[in-house]
Amino acid sequence: QKTEWEKLKNEKSVTKDGKAFTVAANIGTPKDLEGVVDNGSEAIGLYRTEFLYMDSAELPSEDDQFEAYKAVLEGMSGKPVVVRTMDIGGDKKLPYLPLPEEMNPFLGYRAIRISLDRDDIFRTQLRALLRASNYGKLRIMFPMIATVAEFRQAKGILEEEKAKLIANGQAVSDDLQVGMMVEIPASAVLANQFAKEVDFFSIGTNDLIQYTMAADRMNERVSYLYQPYNPAILRLVKNVIDASHKEGKWTGMCGEAAGDSIMAPLLVGMGLDEFSMSATSVLRVRSLMKRLDTTELADLVETAVNVNTSNEENQKLVEDYMSNL
Ligand code: PEP
Ligand code: MG
Repeated sequence: QKTEWEKLKNEKSVTKDGKAFTVAANIGTPKDLEGVVDNGSEAIGLYRTEFLYMDSAELPSEDDQFEAYKAVLEGMSGKPVVVRTMDIGGDKKLPYLPLPEEMNPFLGYRAIRISLDRDDIFRTQLRALLRASNYGKLRIMFPMIATVAEFRQAKGILEEEKAKLIANGQAVSDDLQVGMMVEIPASAVLANQFAKEVDFFSIGTNDLIQYTMAADRMNERVSYLYQPYNPAILRLVKNVIDASHKEGKWTGMCGEAAGDSIMAPLLVGMGLDEFSMSATSVLRVRSLMKRLDTTELADLVETAVNVNTSNEENQKLVEDYMSNL
């Protein structure tokens, strides 16, 4: 099996009937690039920049950040790179940025909520990103967006920093996209409205499942509720994909579910544009896609989303379908 996958390294990700998808990788630092390139990833669908902040004894400077972003963009030689702005809070803490103790950190002061409040930190990161944009195909993404107003505010700050750089004679790429994570149920429900304003969505299933099922993603006692194939989750995912396509935008997925073999046929059937996962899963998913025929998958999706009522039924639905291929 390994050697069969090896052969797919330099191939595109296409289904049996010739539909192309992007299979991308998630990274945490520029050091992860080697694995990304070795496994033939077509893009980086999620660069979690919080590690830059967590691996540092103080807030990383604009230049330190610029160097890291530039290294990743150059390392991908013009392939798209989705960089997510700082997603601190929840379980991720910074020693030099003490946050108040909270009853529910996952429902608290985190990610874009901190960035909009501490816009000094946010603007530094955005300037570093804008300067790095000249070295590749950069897509900037905001985490934990709950309201259209938050997205507008974040994008407005980005536009201000861009205008200032340009006024100072600094170049900024004109091939820059600005999108958001969909990981809060409110934004998945309101995807049609968000789709008018974003360039792309990336669905974060790790948090989307946690918040939709009201089950802490770190708590083993409720891990049985962590149900990626639950029709409630699938319906939200499909809503986001459809809403983006209606506005001519694209949708990726960067949560764990994007690399899951049961999810893949459902997501291909829904027309998810980009699948982003750990680099070691890229070739397995590319190989799986080759076995799928998109013209057959509409029925599978319809049953999973509108007929079945449980995670288990949907798991069995896909397993049966795949074993009969
Ligand atoms: C997610 O929530 O699915 C996601 C990709 O982000 P993180 O796992 O970093 O919260
Ligand atoms: Mg998340």
